[in-house]
Amino acid sequence: MFKDKWVIEAMKGTSLGTKLSALKRFILDKSKIDDLTKCALCPNMCRFACPINIVHARETTSPAGKSRIAYLLRENFIPVNQDNVEPLYYCINCDACSVHCPYSYSVNDLIKPMRSNILSSGIYPSSINALINNLKESKCIYPELKTRVSGSINNEEKIDVLYFPGCIALKYYENEVMGALRIFEKIGFKASLFNKPIDCGYIAYELGIESLFIEIARSLVDELNKFDARFIVSPCPECVYMLREVYPHYKIKVRAKIYHTLEFISNHLDKLDLRISDEATYHDSTTLSIKLDEPELLLDVLSRLGIKVISPVRYGKNSFETASENSILYWVNKDLANEINKERFNELRRFSSKIIVPSYASKKSLEGFGGEVIEIMEFLLKEIEKR
Ligand code: SF4
Ligand code: SF4
Repeated sequence: MFKDKWVIEAMKGTSLGTKLSALKRFILDKSKIDDLTKCALCPNMCRFACPINIVHARETTSPAGKSRIAYLLRENFIPVNQDNVEPLYYCINCDACSVHCPYSYSVNDLIKPMRSNILSSGIYPSSINALINNLKESKCIYPELKTRVSGSINNEEKIDVLYFPGCIALKYYENEVMGALRIFEKIGFKASLFNKPIDCGYIAYELGIESLFIEIARSLVDELNKFDARFIVSPCPECVYMLREVYPHYKIKVRAKIYHTLEFISNHLDKLDLRISDEATYHDSTTLSIKLDEPELLLDVLSRLGIKVISPVRYGKNSFETASENSILYWVNKDLANEINKERFNELRRFSSKIIVPSYASKKSLEGFGGEVIEIMEFLLKEIEKR
């Protein structure tokens, strides 16, 4: 009520009828306006922080633009067809909008229910057909991993750390993932790799296919809970977010404590006994900095190692997220995803040719444009091996 005092001021000197109508319209009825409508009415105050808006620069895929389309679809003002639903998938689920929104809205959260409705009516961009089939059939975004990733894991033994790399790391960085186990051993923890290619359900969750997300999550947790591990550590911020923050809402319970590698390493950094004279810049994942509320973790770890760290323009909660293979956008428009990644890479490269990243998803998004992009555990292992 207090914030709306300006309405009362503005109405001074008007007739009683106008006053009553303004009071009803601006104050009493306002509470009835739902969040999606408020966002649809907003003049796009967060658009400067949205990676899609910065690179794609179209009104329909701007933050408020997507909310307007979701609103128009919901109210049946426009038909549900491929063209009209497509902008709802132009999002990398980064929540950068929420940092600058006066209401703290995440557009992704606002439009997700509409994605869910249109999916159940069977109308969605045809480009995500394969993705949905992969998730249904293999519980993984990469079905080929089922046959490629080998070996059974011994889950009889008591271990300290179960290292859960996530699908992108298993697909592209098998050797690097094995190297991380040596770091856990070095800081005194007995570690095993969880190499079953089961997704954490993040993409199904973001697509709004709740039943599929729950099925994937339950099957992952059944496997994880077979291990007698104290900690589950993952280099994937999205996996950590799902296991630690989202699963409990669905009463899906992981027995071990869950950490991102940076959180875990940060607690034991002294045991590595490393001083590194190097210079680098870094990329912050918004899942870590916003969703998991760890905006300075990577900067802090690098600084404590003695590295001369040069912060890019956009970092912490203001970071510019990449469009990785676990974002919906990647599967809907790979060219745009690539442009977003290039934009981020070009920014980081201005600060240093060495870019340290907190996840293999970020590494995959940023490498290939020219500089050295190195995941934090990979970086630590290289330094340890030099000694
Ligand atoms: S998320 Fe907030 S700031 Fe961004 S368009 Fe919606 S209401 Fe406006
Ligand atoms: S979640 Fe990220 S990509 Fe999606 S609208 Fe918000 S800022 Fe843009």
